[in-house]
Amino acid sequence: MMENIFGKNLPELTEVVQAMGLPKFRGKQLAEWLYKKSAADFHSMNNLPKGLREKLAESYTIERAVPSAQLHSADGKTSKFLLSFADGAGVETVLMRQPYGNSICVSSQVGCSMGCCFCASTLHGMVRSLTAGEMLAQTMYINDLLAEEGQKVDTVVIMGSGEPLLNYENVLKYIRMLHEDYCLGMSYRSITLSTSGIVPNIYRLAQEELPVTLSISLHAPEDALRSELMPVNMKYPLAEVVKAGREYGELTHRRVTYEYILIDGVNDNLRQAKELTALLRGQLASVNLIPINPVAERNWQRPAPERISFFARYLTDHHITATVRREMGNDIQAACGQLRNKHLESR
Ligand code: SF4
Repeated sequence: MMENIFGKNLPELTEVVQAMGLPKFRGKQLAEWLYKKSAADFHSMNNLPKGLREKLAESYTIERAVPSAQLHSADGKTSKFLLSFADGAGVETVLMRQPYGNSICVSSQVGCSMGCCFCASTLHGMVRSLTAGEMLAQTMYINDLLAEEGQKVDTVVIMGSGEPLLNYENVLKYIRMLHEDYCLGMSYRSITLSTSGIVPNIYRLAQEELPVTLSISLHAPEDALRSELMPVNMKYPLAEVVKAGREYGELTHRRVTYEYILIDGVNDNLRQAKELTALLRGQLASVNLIPINPVAERNWQRPAPERISFFARYLTDHHITATVRREMGNDIQAACGQLRNKHLESR
């Protein structure tokens, strides 16, 4: 059976060429063809010996992501792609053209098992975790599109479907590959990993000495409400999550971002702003306030603009850095999981 070569890192590619009796440097050339020059087949790799190209083609495939659907916002700034892999599984990847560069939101699993009740990605459960190659394939798909305009992917957020810290090894391999010169050569600082709060793996990540930005979904400043919104809180309660975030910030010297979806009448009152402030006081942290996209099934609405600014102002007045997320791509339902669900339903 043919094996997929896309997603192998340099040491693995070096093993492949050495097993075929060729010197080590051929591995680097192969890596550059795959990840820098986006070669679609082995025959186009014209600085590799013909014999090697033939042997590679006999044993390996190059599996990239194939687009099955796409949506573009009216302002042209946000594009959402449903990208499929060899087994037919599809995930969403989003391109956001921000004033500071091109940011992409990458999925780490097909669907999600975490059951956050505001999220469309979890409605059909988790199908499987993605490999490092499949996360890289999402990135390269968009990078190749941008290259046609003389641009590139500038920042990556692993915030699409899935819980990246439950796909730890593959996600770490992907992050390390993004950083390599033979791949995109991205700085670790331009990569953000977003978790629902898998405490043991936050500690594990803190030990990796990778200065990636950690983003933790909080969404409530008290356990009862957080457990209702995010069942993961029953396993890893708020205090433990925030303690792990604090340690991550101290060890990596990176500011941790806490995501907080604002829902009218649910988590946006003064008492909750006070509790949130007390929870994060003294921590190298910032809060990203995300006014919710209305969820009809739950009758959840976004708070009025003055309530949003009141909540944000309370935090900043009490020395917690807070920003309100800019709205992008509402007209194409940029909330994660919605395009995939539509596609699943239509089949
Ligand atoms: S918000 Fe993230 S962790 Fe929660 S269900 Fe959705 S994809 Fe999973």
